[in-house]
Amino acid sequence: MRDRGVRMSHVASTVGAVTADAPTSTSIAARRAFVNGSFRPATVRIADGRISGIGRFDDQADVVVDDAHVLLPGLVDTHVHFNEPGRTEWEGFATGTAAAAAGGVTTVVEMPLNSIPVTTTPEALGAKRQAASGQLAVDLAYWGGAVPENLGSLGALLDAGVVGVKCFLAPSGIDEFGHLDGAQVEQALTELVSHDGLLIAHAELEAHLGEASGSVFADFVASRPPEAEVEAVKLVVEAARRTGARVHIVHVSAAETLDVVRQAKADGVRITIETCPHYLALDDATVPDGQGRFKCCPPIRDGKNQDVLWRGVLDGTIDAIVSDHSPATAELKNDPDLGTAWGGISGAQTGLAVVWSEARRRGVDLEQILPLFTTGPAGIVRLERGAIERDAPAHLAVFDPEAAHTLAESDLEYRSKVSPWVGAELTGAVVRTYLNGECVYARGEGVLSRSGREVFPDDEGALEGYVQLGLGTLPAPEVG
Ligand SMILES: [Zn+2]
Repeated sequence: MRDRGVRMSHVASTVGAVTADAPTSTSIAARRAFVNGSFRPATVRIADGRISGIGRFDDQADVVVDDAHVLLPGLVDTHVHFNEPGRTEWEGFATGTAAAAAGGVTTVVEMPLNSIPVTTTPEALGAKRQAASGQLAVDLAYWGGAVPENLGSLGALLDAGVVGVKCFLAPSGIDEFGHLDGAQVEQALTELVSHDGLLIAHAELEAHLGEASGSVFADFVASRPPEAEVEAVKLVVEAARRTGARVHIVHVSAAETLDVVRQAKADGVRITIETCPHYLALDDATVPDGQGRFKCCPPIRDGKNQDVLWRGVLDGTIDAIVSDHSPATAELKNDPDLGTAWGGISGAQTGLAVVWSEARRRGVDLEQILPLFTTGPAGIVRLERGAIERDAPAHLAVFDPEAAHTLAESDLEYRSKVSPWVGAELTGAVVRTYLNGECVYARGEGVLSRSGREVFPDDEGALEGYVQLGLGTLPAPEVG
């Protein structure tokens, strides 16, 4: 499985990668390397960009990680919106993947909206791939979209190389990405099950959502109650149960959802769920009014709700913590009217530091949260990423778990430096990020290379899709 994916990545890299003179290491030693779920002294040996072996700590290695730092597998963020092409002024692949690299993330999976066109056809995927070419600081995979117009054609989208398709059960915020009703969800799953495809759902049910306007944050939260999420999750669970298809719920926010998911998992329904740093680390009681940078859908809820989500993190109900990095221009985000401000939080760069800061406060160990940033999300999209293991790509991050700092706008690689954590005191900082053994980001220096590659799920269809898209006609990237 891995070899196939790699071969494809290499093909893609001929159009997608730009390599500068960043240092490439053949061995990295650390007193605390996260291997097989725990920290231990180790030396990671690297050949041709892959991990060729993991041995005893060797103080003669090319790189010896500072004793105060830990060596992690590169993080996997399966939920980012980079909005290119079409809304590149909101983010774009260059700044988005730079932010990921600065956050220790080495693989991102990019959402089918809010680019123009939305990624609901193989042609639209081709346009997005063309836009990404040459810009990637980290590896990139793609989600497709399931909308009323493309039901019946989801197989073609999977064949073109997306890792799965996303749907909404309420208006998405973008007119060109319509939402599905219950019957359409079932129709999509019936189609997907024959491809072993994955449907991911933004689970808020339109019937339970109110109108929001004004600057009072509590009013905005009240307009999107937990029932909207819980009822949507129940709808998806029942459709998955009937069809046998694989489903995943994005950005779970509500405590009540976890009971539904626990039962579904116990019953053998093929469901996974994710939550996001903002639900685990922000409490609506402390969110100031009129600050669009805290607006996301579903909303940040109260401290009691947050405690329950943390139990879900620790007991395995929640499979992944991903950013839902969803930026917009500062003008759209800083609208004091929470009805009209763009809903989406920027977090691609800050996920581990934010969640680790909160975990420490709760007495939770770093080892307990790391799987949710690595093997958890990788497993959902079936990419062999997120572990320091032999033959894996040498995607690594050096993290200083004790680094206390106040997040400044100038720290952020985002195009629009709007974040709910600007001014927050965080503990933990990414020191260096490695892609295929090459240092692509160093703290204080920024992004050193654009050697990220496209990643595709491993199936015959994806390879055919690649050929059909005719990407051999892409112009050669500028090297330098
Ligand atoms: Zn999202």
